[in-house]
Amino acid sequence: MISKKQMFINGEWRQGATSYELKSPFSGEVVAHIPFSTKDDVLEAIEAAKKAREKMKALTVLERSQILGRVADLFEEQLEECALILTQENAKPLIAARGEILRTIETYRFAAEEAKQLTGEMIPMDAAKGGKGKLGFTKREPLGVIGAITPFNFPFNLVAHKLGPAFAAGNTVVLKPASQTPLSALKTAEIFESAGLPAGALNVVIGRGGEVGDLLVTHPDIKLITFTGSLEVGLDIKAKSGLKKTTLELGSNSAVIIDDAEDIQAIADRCVEGAFTYAGQVCISVQRIYIKKDLYETFSQAMLKTLEGWTIGNPAEETTNISALIQEKEAVRAEEWIREAVQAGADIIFGGKRHGSIVEPTILVNTPAHVSINCNEAFAPLVVIHTYDQFEEAISNVNDSQYGLQAGVYTTSLEKAFQAIDKIEVGGVIINDIPSFRVDQMPYGGVKNSGTGREGIKYAMEEMTELKLAVFNL
Ligand code: NAP
Repeated sequence: MISKKQMFINGEWRQGATSYELKSPFSGEVVAHIPFSTKDDVLEAIEAAKKAREKMKALTVLERSQILGRVADLFEEQLEECALILTQENAKPLIAARGEILRTIETYRFAAEEAKQLTGEMIPMDAAKGGKGKLGFTKREPLGVIGAITPFNFPFNLVAHKLGPAFAAGNTVVLKPASQTPLSALKTAEIFESAGLPAGALNVVIGRGGEVGDLLVTHPDIKLITFTGSLEVGLDIKAKSGLKKTTLELGSNSAVIIDDAEDIQAIADRCVEGAFTYAGQVCISVQRIYIKKDLYETFSQAMLKTLEGWTIGNPAEETTNISALIQEKEAVRAEEWIREAVQAGADIIFGGKRHGSIVEPTILVNTPAHVSINCNEAFAPLVVIHTYDQFEEAISNVNDSQYGLQAGVYTTSLEKAFQAIDKIEVGGVIINDIPSFRVDQMPYGGVKNSGTGREGIKYAMEEMTELKLAVFNL
């Protein structure tokens, strides 16, 4: 029987006045009936979160940390169930889905630890002439109600990157997950409820971004919008949010430079993984590869060899590497981008075809700089390989992008590694690995059109707190 889900407001599970059918992106089958939150539901959720601020304030740091630790324990116990939710709602292949839950557990564990590290500092007031006889210190206070808007691609772990730091710092949250991935958000709420989070501290509302999302973005009681998603929506949120604080974690067309290689097969394996895991629907997916000319032939052959072992199919099967994109229209767009590149002179050296919502892992070469696959975010299993002669030329090509999230550089030269760190315009430079590398406590975020602000628990907690100064006139 298909389950009928409820939204979560003020610690209560509620029916919606209307609902929609959530369909599997892979099979098209109805997976669950999901309630639509009305405007009144959203306003009630905000009010509940506002009232719950006092309950969060009453918790000690230890209690907040213990709740987050219990959340991690509960995810551990329900790992397989959570992974299966992902295969259903966003067609993430089981192996990758388990990987996401393992990271989610780690994210909540980091949050439990970081809750205990939120400190202020003593200010040497009398270092100024006018500061004689004064004692000053800072403390970090929670902002209050946080509006969290999350995307479909890592719906457990990216929600954890909002809820973990928000609760670790003593805030309350109204969460709006992507319409295609509400099951993971509701499961998360169930887990927080079991872990003893005070009623009203977490509210999950569901509905179209332009409606529910807009209400959160413009509501005066929401002090910060923490958003992960596309550039287009990020710009809309920025335009509508006025003076409200915003953290915007947006997209990218990430690049890797391969300048020299001790083990070219190992690098090719990592590039295949970075470009095609979860069908390229990862914000730091490898989309552009710049390789020194003399390495190209061996490298491209090594990539093709690895891809021969990749399987396309049902996300719920253990052996599947690539499954459906989130919507068929995204697969049609990817096919269109391939066609555009080929018409402009590109060659396909692997894949290139679409089967319904599935796009084959595709490698293109000889793509002119102006085509979509070079300039925009693919969010599909497409990667381009370019060759170069000079390292400086590769850096300049990497920077020729509206985005700047992370970049990878393979080099055995320390000088070139530092040159890359200095010159590449991104939030993170990864030496001797792909740009897709991420662990959940590191500072993570972009420059240029990849966004503003940083996640990684400690850094997100800074965004989610206000610095307050206290001065004693002794
Ligand atoms: P999206 O279309 O921008 O949607 C993200 C969220 O915003 C969803 O919950 C969506 O709701 C909501 N939304 C849509 N329109 C809105 C509006 N006008 N006001 C407020 N909220 C609105 O992104 P997506 O397709 O789910 O995710 C893919 C994008 O996320 C890619 O660009 C990817 O690079 C980026 N991403 C970035 C990071 C990072 O950390 N930098 C991580 C993961 C993903 P509906 O689902 O109801 O439309």
